[in-house]
Amino acid sequence: MTSGHAVIVGAGAAGWSAADTLVRSGWPGRVTIVDPAGATNRTLVNTGVLTGLLNREQLSRPIPTGTELLQDEVEAIEEVGTVRLRSGGRLAPDAVVIASGSVPRPASFEADAGAPRSRILPLHSAEDAERIRGLVPSNGASVVILGAGLVGSETASLLADAGVDVTLVARSTLPLREQLGPTVASELLRRHRDRIRVRTGRSVARATTRSSSAVIELSDGETLEGDAAIVAHGTLARRPASGSDRGAITVDARLRTGLRGVYAAGGVASILAHGTVIRVDHWDDAAAQGAHAARSILHDLLGGPDPGEYRFESGYSSRIHGSMLTAWGVATDRTEWSRHVDGATVGVGRHLGHVTAVTGLDAPLVVRDLAASASRDLRDSLSLYPTGV
Ligand SMILES: Cc1cc2nc3c(=O)[nH]c(=O)nc-3n(C[C@H](O)[C@H](O)[C@H](O)COP(=O)(O)OP(=O)(O)OC[C@H]3O[C@@H](n4cnc5c(N)ncnc54)[C@H](O)[C@@H]3O)c2cc1C
Repeated sequence: MTSGHAVIVGAGAAGWSAADTLVRSGWPGRVTIVDPAGATNRTLVNTGVLTGLLNREQLSRPIPTGTELLQDEVEAIEEVGTVRLRSGGRLAPDAVVIASGSVPRPASFEADAGAPRSRILPLHSAEDAERIRGLVPSNGASVVILGAGLVGSETASLLADAGVDVTLVARSTLPLREQLGPTVASELLRRHRDRIRVRTGRSVARATTRSSSAVIELSDGETLEGDAAIVAHGTLARRPASGSDRGAITVDARLRTGLRGVYAAGGVASILAHGTVIRVDHWDDAAAQGAHAARSILHDLLGGPDPGEYRFESGYSSRIHGSMLTAWGVATDRTEWSRHVDGATVGVGRHLGHVTAVTGLDAPLVVRDLAASASRDLRDSLSLYPTGV
């Protein structure tokens, strides 16, 4: 190692945590975070900015002590690990963590998007939230939400709390089944139906913007109209722009990319764990991945302790229609779900016999206890994803 310079691409959950972990663990040189926007907390986009509780500036947070921020954009990480900046500059660090997050998955339907005053918008950034707020009148507003994943569901609840007439549209007949399991997903859907208009098993055939409304035509011919339509179709990895490479950056279980000294974490990364590739886009998991990438750097470059394989042991929670949704771990399309026996609305997801996901509605303590015991079990097991599975 020459200068001991670490460059972190992105100051969101993963990048912030990677930088902080490096400094706290005694990284011997400079830690530079490159982010055109500075450090921000994306989870407040809907709960804070869309609801009007916070303005855009209030999403920013200080960068970790002992690091420096370069307000620039990374254009490419070249073969030799050189970092090329939009401003024209180049950095030649010893270690790089790519933590550039995600972009909203584009709508798959025909729309008149592209018009500057479009009323059919994603909800990913503070600017998106401000734009949507600007389209929605303070009284008698109506919004159509396309997508009933976590952001769509939470946003539907927030807008309903604010007195907005909400219609939630989902392609799936049971939204969030894969992520939460059938028990919790069914109960969540019931709570949505009790409070807002819900259309499941329907896709969007066409979407248009009129002068004062968004008009959504569904696959069964029904037409919905709102002051705005929010596209909440999940996210795709956002690589630093470079050539024709698209999609998530695949990393090994220590979050190493194929380039020496270059690691990736958070929403931009897919983790390859013995035959299974998993991408998770949640705040605590991104932060845990950032910290893990930093520990791998300390191991690989400075001979620090081996952090071992990354394990998805973070959780998230969300208040939806007055109920607390809590979740721990990770579920994939291979997860086998069962209902927890004590009667609580709790789902337990297993992979190869091990509990890898626990979810619950209004059952945070049950989820916490089951997660703690699953976590002990996982630590005792050799590997969660044996080769070839
Ligand atoms: C509306 C909304 C609500 C959410 N609510 C929750 C929630 O309640 N709980 C939860 O767990 N998760 C939530 N999430 C998801 C959570 O915000 C993300 O999983 C998390 O922010 C991912 O962290 P990250 O570091 O990978 O990316 P981000 O936090 O998005 O950070 C990426 C950073 O990289 C920067 N960047 C991008 N490209 C470049 C480049 N080329 N050069 C330099 N910098 C670059 C960006 O400016 C950004 O600051 C929510 C997401 C949204 C959109």
